Amino acid sequence: YDDRDGHIWMDGKMVDWRQANVHILTHAMHYASSVFEGERAYGGKIFKSRAHSERLKRSAEMIDFEIPYSVDEIEAAKAEVLKVSGLTDAYVRAVAWRGAGDDMGVASARNPVRLAIAAWEWGAYYGDAKMKGAKLDISKWKRPSPETIPVHAKAAGLYMICTMSKHAAEAKGCSDALFMDYRGYVAEATGANIFFVKDGEVHTPDADCFLNGITRQTVIGMLKDKGIAVHERHIMPEELEGFEQCWLTGTAAEVTPVGQIGDYTFEVGAMTRDIAESYEKLVRS
Ligand code: PMP
Repeated sequence: YDDRDGHIWMDGKMVDWRQANVHILTHAMHYASSVFEGERAYGGKIFKSRAHSERLKRSAEMIDFEIPYSVDEIEAAKAEVLKVSGLTDAYVRAVAWRGAGDDMGVASARNPVRLAIAAWEWGAYYGDAKMKGAKLDISKWKRPSPETIPVHAKAAGLYMICTMSKHAAEAKGCSDALFMDYRGYVAEATGANIFFVKDGEVHTPDADCFLNGITRQTVIGMLKDKGIAVHERHIMPEELEGFEQCWLTGTAAEVTPVGQIGDYTFEVGAMTRDIAESYEKLVRS
């Protein structure tokens, strides 16, 4: 991703893609003092753009720093990045972090807070699993307690076990890993939320110790508009056996059917297909 033509917005300026670098003594690289957003533009417009900019600001506050740009300024910067990229359908990545400067210990009060925004083309996140149903491994790592780390921030530190879990899953031929939480309840995948269908009703884990995804909230709204009952609740892993359908939601993942979790299988059923199609229509409307 580093060696290509284009421009990246960094701290208020457009810089050449290959020159969008940071110093090796950047605080974020050593101590995970970084937050980010993943957004998708469809037909030249970022879906729920403002909600993403607001979440970026909130994530930074949750990990104790302030991004030196307002939501309006972030919105304008993203629009500029998209325009300069020449793309209409694109993935947009905003990242804010504690930079390099006078501090190199755990404390970082004297280092600048920085912001960068890039956009590129990114197709189906789970490749052809989007049609056939993704296969998920169950991670050995657990989503942590809200008393351990700010679990609702989209912060880099929360992704360390995501990368480890995803690599372990891929080594077993799976597309992704599903986390249980610190109590043993079903939580989320490494970059997406999860939904289940049983007897025409939908069940999804309470987002009480992980990211309450913007796509998750959008899909819950869509289901309710369709008159489908949605139960946000604690889900035990033993319940996986009884669910008929399953899908993942996320900005990158959109609505991706799940065909298998460990030894449990799910059909790519009518409701899953309907929700995936309705989401596709919504983001392009
Ligand atoms: N959980 C995690 C860990 C994620 O990285 C993402 C992707 N941002 C999601 C859930 C889904 O969030 P959203 O729908 O806002 O993209």
